[in-house]
Amino acid sequence: MINASLTELRAALDARKISSVELTQLFLQRIERLNPTINAFITVDPVHALANAREADARIGRGEAGPLTGIPLAHKDLFCTQGMLTTCGSKMLANFVSPYDAHVVSQLKGAGAVLLGKTNMDEFAMGSSNESSHFGPVANPWDLRRVPGGSSGGSAAAVAARMVPIATGTDTGGSVRQPASLTGITGIKPTYGVVSRYGMVAYASSLDQGGALAASASDCAALLNAMAGFDPRDSTSLERPAEDYCRDIGASAATGKPLAGLRIGLPTEFFGPGMADDVRTAIDSALDTYRALGAHTVEVSLPNAQLAIPAYYVIAPAEASSNLSRFDGVRYGHRASNYRDLDDMYRKSRAEGFGSEVKRRILVGTYVLSHGYYDAYYLQAQKLRRLIAEDFRRAFGTCDVIAGPTSPTTAWSIGEKSDDPVQMYLSDIYTIAVNLAGLPGLSHPCGFGDGQLPVGLQLIGDYFSEARLLGTAHHFQQATDWHTRRPEIAA
Ligand code: GLN
Repeated sequence: MINASLTELRAALDARKISSVELTQLFLQRIERLNPTINAFITVDPVHALANAREADARIGRGEAGPLTGIPLAHKDLFCTQGMLTTCGSKMLANFVSPYDAHVVSQLKGAGAVLLGKTNMDEFAMGSSNESSHFGPVANPWDLRRVPGGSSGGSAAAVAARMVPIATGTDTGGSVRQPASLTGITGIKPTYGVVSRYGMVAYASSLDQGGALAASASDCAALLNAMAGFDPRDSTSLERPAEDYCRDIGASAATGKPLAGLRIGLPTEFFGPGMADDVRTAIDSALDTYRALGAHTVEVSLPNAQLAIPAYYVIAPAEASSNLSRFDGVRYGHRASNYRDLDDMYRKSRAEGFGSEVKRRILVGTYVLSHGYYDAYYLQAQKLRRLIAEDFRRAFGTCDVIAGPTSPTTAWSIGEKSDDPVQMYLSDIYTIAVNLAGLPGLSHPCGFGDGQLPVGLQLIGDYFSEARLLGTAHHFQQATDWHTRRPEIAA
């Protein structure tokens, strides 16, 4: 049961081979056993989970089950959950219990999913390694001395070690795709505006987007179906007809060429010297598999993609400095215990509540927005953002999806990059442009590099092409078994 797909779990629940309570207990036991080593969860709530599971069993009994009814799930700890801690991986919110549920949380509640708890993350989603959490680093289940990626590292590690079958994440510059890649699972970040940000603690609002993490594209599609949809409480939520993200899944091909006619664009800039040799080998052989499935590859160019990191590290901190100004010790969050006056209380509460990476970004963000620098930095970065989006638009004139590596290397050692923020920032070189353009992106496992560490392949699509990305990855997963491999610790 632990390794079963959602389809198999659904069938077992519907056939009463297992109850949701039993399934929930099974995963809670795994969390109890593995979490002390992996540290993927900040909060585990067995009482809440078992209550959810009993309700789900009753619903299944009435014949009213949906695809996710009774299925255990975890949320990244920045989705607000009523009655359960929402810490954002920060001392600032270490005691924060939200008075309401995020849209994503209430959608999944409505679907009857069983919430096991909240997963560890980089503080306020700032990071690529899950080392900046106030609650300690997360270990990569494939090698406990290595990082799982970030910032949704807890969700990714939890799914990779099968402590939970599916988990939510958020992706501002790669935080769903990159940890999925480093832990050997599948993750999708949809088009900006597809998943409501209501109740998702904001980092950089014009880039933040909720996404799904699971073992396979098929499981991600089922989770995304429950997460997506218009929500009037988020002004950037898009009002569009409901989509079935599973629509390109399941249709097993009549021929061995289910991807016949698919044009896969390979950006010259993504295949340059930055990519590690072991990653390149895995990506090249995955592309051979895609060709064997009928796709053909064409070269495309994203000339401004190299400028994505500098543009992002102006725009994201600028938005963060504004978003994080709400944490002042007055309304919620950490408040210093000793202070002289109001000003001193603000200063001390923020100095004590935020970690160093968050402070760095607030400083950078405040600087680039300040008088005299706004034009030189912020405005220039916004112009670059437009150029990057234009590059993608041009590329999609000659291809249907874009493929390349998700991360330039496999998982690195805990501590290896923590003193060098620029090295850390460069690990998102292939993912960040996608957020700047607001496009959907997916990462799926496609092999192993040196040291038996997972490698992920990124698929990028045009706006609203999530179903196609998931269907493409699904056909790859029908023909390969990388997504079924499990780390030893998860046995
Ligand atoms: N690693 C990037 C950052 O530190 C992206 C994080 C994210 O997507 N939340 O900002």
